[in-house]
Amino acid sequence: MSEARCRPGCGACCIAPAIVQSFFGMPDGKPAGVACIHLNASLGCDLFDDPRRPRCCVQFKPHPEVCGDGREQAMVLLMQLDADSQPEYES
Ligand code: SF4
Ligand code: SF4
Repeated sequence: MSEARCRPGCGACCIAPAIVQSFFGMPDGKPAGVACIHLNASLGCDLFDDPRRPRCCVQFKPHPEVCGDGREQAMVLLMQLDADSQPEYES
C-alpha cells in the first residue's frame, strides 16, 4: 500500500473526531467537531514536536480512507468514523 501524506492546510483530523482523554490545554478532552486548541492558523499543530501532544495524535497516520480527496471529504469521513465508534446504549 502506498504511503499517504498529510495534506497541508487541512486539519480535519484535529476538528472532526473527539479526543476522549484529558490532554494539555484541554483537560476535558475535545468534543467531535470542535477544533483542538493547538490547531494553529495555518491548520497545523502547535504541539507537533512537543511531548505533551496527545498519544492518539502521534499514533494517527494519514490514510486515504479517512483523509479523502480534500478537507471537506475528510471532515465527513472522520465525523462518520467518530459516530461509528461511539458505544451503543440500550434504552
Ligand atoms: S485529515 Fe488527513 S490530510 Fe487532513 S490533516 Fe489529518 S492526516 Fe492530514
Ligand atoms: S494536539 Fe495537534 S495533532 Fe492533536 S488534535 Fe490538537 S492540533 Fe491536532
